[in-house]
Amino acid sequence: MSELIIEGLKATVGGAEILSGVNLTIRSGEVHALMGPNGSGKSTLSHVLLGRPGYEVTGGTVRLDGDDVLAMSTAERAAAGLFLAMQHPTEVPGVLLRDVLGASSALDGDDFEAAVASELTAIGLEEAFLERALNVDLSGGEKKRNETIQLAILQPKIAVLDEIDSGLDVDGLRLVSKRIERATNDDGLGVLAITHFTRLLTELKADFVHIFTGGVIVETGGPELADELEESGYARWVPVDEKPESKNPALADDPFADPLA
Ligand code: ADP
Ligand code: MG
Repeated sequence: MSELIIEGLKATVGGAEILSGVNLTIRSGEVHALMGPNGSGKSTLSHVLLGRPGYEVTGGTVRLDGDDVLAMSTAERAAAGLFLAMQHPTEVPGVLLRDVLGASSALDGDDFEAAVASELTAIGLEEAFLERALNVDLSGGEKKRNETIQLAILQPKIAVLDEIDSGLDVDGLRLVSKRIERATNDDGLGVLAITHFTRLLTELKADFVHIFTGGVIVETGGPELADELEESGYARWVPVDEKPESKNPALADDPFADPLA
C-alpha cells in the first residue's frame, strides 16, 4: 500500500506562479482524473512532481510513503516508485527502447524477453520498436504506447499520465487504458490521469475526478463530474472575467470567432 500526499504545493515557472496550493492524496489502486483548461498548470504539476529543472517549488510538501519527494533527485523519485508518462515524450537518439526497458526491469534473460513480448502484444506495438531509438520519428500514438510499455515494465507505485490519450487512435486508446487499468487492479498502481476527455475513463475507471483551474483543484467528485464537464465545459468553474467572450459579447455565440477582433 503506497500513498502520495501532496499538500499546499506552490510552484513558479519563469517567475510566474503556476501552482497555487495543490492538495491531493493518491493511494495504491486509485485512479484520479485531473481535468482543467489549457494553461491551467496540469503539466506543470506533473513536472514539479518529478523534479524537472526550471520549476521552482515555493511552498508545500510532497510525500511518498512518508519520504520527502521534493528533497530527491528525479532519478531517486523514479527509484522510489514515481513515474511520469510525459505529454510530449522526449526523443533520445542513440538510446533504444530495448535499452531503456532492460535498465528499468528487475528481470533478465528469457524472463525479460517474455515480459517484454507480452507487453508489446498488450499495447499493440510490433517487436521492431524495441530496436528503434527512444521516441525518435515515432507517431504521437506510438509514443504514448511507448510510455505505457515503460510503465508496465518499470512497475512504479504511482504513475502520473499527462494526456496519455492524446494522439492515440481508437484501438490504441482502448489497449493503453485497459493495460493501465489492469496495473491498478493487479499491481496496486495508483494513477493521476491528466486528460481532457472522458473516453480515456471508459476502460480506466476513475475513482475521483478533480477540476483544476488557476493552479488549484477547485472541485472533486466522481465520474459524473467528467460527464458534466464534457457536456457543458468549464463555464461553472472559470471566473467570467477570465473568459474571452466576456471581453467581446459577440464571441459568446461563435466559439470560432477571432478573440482579438
Ligand atoms: P496545462 O498542462 O494545464 O495546459 P501547463 O502546466 O503546461 O498547462 O502551463 C501552465 C502555464 O505555465 C502556461 O501559461 C504556460 O505557458 C506556462 N509555462 C509552463 N512551462 C513554462 C516554461 N518552461 N516557461 C514559461 N512558462 C511556462
Ligand atoms: Mg499540459
